[in-house]
Amino acid sequence: MDSRAMLKFSRRFLWHKTLLVPLAAVLAACSALGRRGSEQPASTAQGAAASQRSEAPSSATQTTAQSSDSAQPAAATALPATPACEDDDDPTPPQTAGPFYTPNTPLRTSLLEPGMAGTRLLLSGQVLSTRCTPLAGALLDFWHTNDAGEYDNEGYTFRGHQFADDAGRFTLETIVPGIYPGRTRHIHVRAQAPNQPVLTTQLYFPGESGNQGDGIFDPALLVTLADAANGKEAQFTFVLDVP
Ligand code: FE
Repeated sequence: MDSRAMLKFSRRFLWHKTLLVPLAAVLAACSALGRRGSEQPASTAQGAAASQRSEAPSSATQTTAQSSDSAQPAAATALPATPACEDDDDPTPPQTAGPFYTPNTPLRTSLLEPGMAGTRLLLSGQVLSTRCTPLAGALLDFWHTNDAGEYDNEGYTFRGHQFADDAGRFTLETIVPGIYPGRTRHIHVRAQAPNQPVLTTQLYFPGESGNQGDGIFDPALLVTLADAANGKEAQFTFVLDVP
């Protein structure tokens, strides 16, 4: 192979590499994304927690992949507009709202008020469609008990709604809910993409002794939980049944 042929070969090799690497990154990130929302192991709560912790770095991969995807339109033209999540695109399962929902909650991302007892909790995540598309403007309406396991059924303590940002991301500042008889620790939530059906469900905490004895506990609804400087940090990805 003379030097001109070698140069031509090298260019072609590099061109293929620049297309294949972003494609692999996008597909890997999308698969990891679906698992976080819908494929928790059905073994034990602790097993689920360990699995989620081990997946923590994949959220960084996802961000990187999405950024590189949008930054390289040439590569994107070779892909579908919204890459499929393969078999990891199961919607977040619905659960009962229970008897303690109050409509018309305040618009706010922090449920904290001065003097509240309890361990601080920062819950964050993303709202996606079943095709891994961020659902900008999705409504999230949260409600849960205070530290003593009591709902405020007359006011709006520990109740509030917000809308996901342009990347479908949300953040909620609150406390770790208390526990009341008959249930394990949980947060209620209603999620709704604009002009789409409402998903009513609940989020659970890993490592809770009450999880296995709770009749409606679902490991697919476990948050990822970690210690933080002033409390706990939890993450959850909602996958709404929106194409
Ligand atoms: Fe409840």
